[in-house]
Amino acid sequence: MTTAFYTHHDCKLHDMGAGHPESPARLQAIEDQLIASRIDQLLDYRGMPLAQESDLARVHSAAMIALVKEHSLALAGKAGCYPLDPDTSVNAYSWQAALRAAGAALAATDAVLAGEVSNAFCAVRPPGHHATSRTPMGFCLFNNIALAARHALEAHGLERVAIVDFDVHHGNGTEEIFAHDPRVLMVSFFQHPFYPHCGTEPEGDNTVNIPVPAYSDGAVVRKLVTEQWLPALNAHRPQMVFVSAGFDAHREDDMAQMGLVEADYTWLTRQIMAVAAEHAEGRIVSCLEGGYNLSALGRSVVAHMKVLAELE
Ligand SMILES: [Zn+2]
Repeated sequence: MTTAFYTHHDCKLHDMGAGHPESPARLQAIEDQLIASRIDQLLDYRGMPLAQESDLARVHSAAMIALVKEHSLALAGKAGCYPLDPDTSVNAYSWQAALRAAGAALAATDAVLAGEVSNAFCAVRPPGHHATSRTPMGFCLFNNIALAARHALEAHGLERVAIVDFDVHHGNGTEEIFAHDPRVLMVSFFQHPFYPHCGTEPEGDNTVNIPVPAYSDGAVVRKLVTEQWLPALNAHRPQMVFVSAGFDAHREDDMAQMGLVEADYTWLTRQIMAVAAEHAEGRIVSCLEGGYNLSALGRSVVAHMKVLAELE
């Protein structure tokens, strides 16, 4: 059994302007580092199908879907971006890229549940975990991991899933989408106080949010994960585990001020693998969220993928 790696050129065409940290170069850095580490040969490379608008509607309002679609398609044949908020823009290719990103998360869920692959990583952009049911925000257009989790519940009939979010920012969109849904347990840690300035008071009782101060390192995070995430995950007994895999808590990442290193992402992924092995027949779908230092991002994704592919 193998680990699937989902990628598509369309995701590099979504561009929010020169100097924007959420850049197409992020995906290239990941691909380059996979090749440099020679694990690319061991992965099952898969293209990303396009999600359908009816898939997006499982999570997002019709007005939100139309907002992204209309502003992106209005730029067809033109350069430049339309700002949806101060951080988040669309260009002519954003609609297509967003459908690919969501489509990858859905296809990965299908492939893992069909037993075609052991688990999957989706190298997607735009990222998703800040996107709420009603609005894009924080570099995110549609919430890829939420779409995948709801697809597993509603199209595949799973009864319990978990979402693990180790991005340095709180996944406010994912929390909002699943608040009070007992089928979904969300566990996360995030730098606090920090964007998006919420999460300390969970919206529902199905969320384990761990705010951590700036400059926290891997030892702090490992202790909190051991004490708070793992008991909750094991009590929930998820039939599938979804990962919002942001790598911006890396100490070389200037977006935030936390101190994780590749070994911490290895450790985190091992904990996720153990929970999935215990309860979920190993089923994991992981989707890229943040990570803005290109070198640290590439190395951290390799660390994550090596554990997923059981190479380390
Ligand atoms: Zn982030």
